[in-house]
Amino acid sequence: MSRRRKRKAFINDIVLQRVERLFDAAFVEFPAHTQRSDRYVELARKLAMKHRVPLGKTYKMRFCRSCGAYFVYGTNARVRIKDKRTVITCLRCHDLRRY
Ligand SMILES: [Zn+2]
Repeated sequence: MSRRRKRKAFINDIVLQRVERLFDAAFVEFPAHTQRSDRYVELARKLAMKHRVPLGKTYKMRFCRSCGAYFVYGTNARVRIKDKRTVITCLRCHDLRRY
């Protein structure tokens, strides 16, 4: 690996570690402080975008891309299977995502 690629791999690693911690924190804070969860999602997204690190599908499916809500399935997001596709509905802004 070139030096540049090595550095990028290092940055990606750090960013993903922080994203993981922010999503963990969002999960913990959700029951009592939902708005904090949304803030953690916002921070994680900004961080990933700033460093151009792609968030995996697992993270992308955990928040609303429209209003930024952190999803807890069954609480503020509806998950249904339709035509062999997973459909996630945000119960706050009713935005649909299909996977
Ligand atoms: Zn939403």
